[in-house]
Amino acid sequence: MAIIRKKTREIKVGKVKVGGNNPVVVQSMTKSKLGNLNNIRVEIKNLIECGCELLRIAVPDMKSVYFLKNLINEKIFTVPVIADIQFDYKIALECINAGVDGIRINPGNIGGYDRVSEIISKARKKNIVVRIGVNSGSIDKNVLKRNRGNITASMVESTLEYVRLLESLKFYNFKISAKASSVLDTIYVYENISEKVDYPLHLGITEAGPVFTGSIKSAVGMGILLYKGIGDTIRVSLTGNSVDEVKAGYTILNSLNLRKAGVDIISCPTCGRTVDGFQQFVHEIEKLTSGIRKNLKVAVMGCIVNGPGEAKEADIGIAFGKNKAAIFLKGRVIGRVDKKDALKSFEEELKKII
Ligand code: SF4
Repeated sequence: MAIIRKKTREIKVGKVKVGGNNPVVVQSMTKSKLGNLNNIRVEIKNLIECGCELLRIAVPDMKSVYFLKNLINEKIFTVPVIADIQFDYKIALECINAGVDGIRINPGNIGGYDRVSEIISKARKKNIVVRIGVNSGSIDKNVLKRNRGNITASMVESTLEYVRLLESLKFYNFKISAKASSVLDTIYVYENISEKVDYPLHLGITEAGPVFTGSIKSAVGMGILLYKGIGDTIRVSLTGNSVDEVKAGYTILNSLNLRKAGVDIISCPTCGRTVDGFQQFVHEIEKLTSGIRKNLKVAVMGCIVNGPGEAKEADIGIAFGKNKAAIFLKGRVIGRVDKKDALKSFEEELKKII
């Protein structure tokens, strides 16, 4: 079964095409401060290495613009970089001057029409994209009052107001986000916006929580929207390592067959039949495959009940018996090894196919 995606306008964030017929793009945001150069360099490299396709960075003050500019000049960004700006339009202007590929603003907190208009005119001149973002936690008080405190109605109204503002400036090179921390509110808001406009939508559940809770909430919320064909870029917001955000993003897209990127591990949940040490084995396989970008289905199974069946379906698989493990390659058993040699043998076979 394939998901039919809603057709949106295509925009280009640096070299990455978003919307239209392009695949859903995985985005993340750095957690390190721009001034902490060692940390941020490592984080940027790790993010890019694990497949982050759009990289957003918070730029809270003018000093941070200076650091960002230096990083851009170092050519560390091999994927497009988006500056996240709140409140101060001058920071947005300086970031555009510094050479970012996009900026994210909330037009409601940037100081009025003239300032938004100035940012847009500079973005147009430099041919970069803008993301207009509304968050449930920072809705304009007047809009909230008009909608009698109804958060979702206020978010939709604010978003559409900003869309009209950019259209009145004849600027169409933008995407939209409207994230709530409530999964149901997020779904409602995006569905409504998607019915009314055809600009690309960036999905996310904002302040989703720590890695476990946040990944589940994001998978449920974004999963439902993506299943309905809504969404052109995604970010899994987690209180944790940004690399986990990217991994979670790809896992969501892979599970809906919207992307085929990296390793998809099929492993059994374990039960009373499972061979001893199995969970540790799966953990080792996860570590072994974490850096692989090739599209690969890997099955790791704990006994002979479903093991051979699942292992056969994978590109490479292993199914444990009592004392031995069978290694499968594209549906064929290519060897039976002692349990103690299983990891080494599996690694050898894996290396041959990547
Ligand atoms: S594959 Fe075997 S060990 Fe794993 S959960 Fe199923 S029955 Fe249990």
